[in-house]
Amino acid sequence: MQPLQINNDKAAGWLTIEWADGRSQRLRHAGLRALCKCTLCQSQRLRGAADAAASCASAQQDGVRVVELHLVGAYGLQLVFSDGHEKGIYPWVYLRLQGGFGVDETSQSLAGTATPV
Ligand SMILES: [Zn+2]
Repeated sequence: MQPLQINNDKAAGWLTIEWADGRSQRLRHAGLRALCKCTLCQSQRLRGAADAAASCASAQQDGVRVVELHLVGAYGLQLVFSDGHEKGIYPWVYLRLQGGFGVDETSQSLAGTATPV
């Protein structure tokens, strides 16, 4: 499953994904940052919750934003965050598992549009 369109609202801190099956998913930037799957973040989490909370302090901040999106082939999405973190690649299946569905909101009011290329 791949998205038809991705809208990145940097001002509000939301990423909206329109999927091919018609479902719309909204994900918070700060939440995405905390979900990062790169080896650095994963190893930090594996070291323990307290440790991770300390070392990933910036991830907990609501102010963190997705500043760039890069499609990684048919596999997923690479997100570049405002805190400089850019190692995270988010497979589509992983994003689909994160919830954020069932919101009957459209992306009409969202600023900033990234169309997959
Ligand atoms: Zn990471």
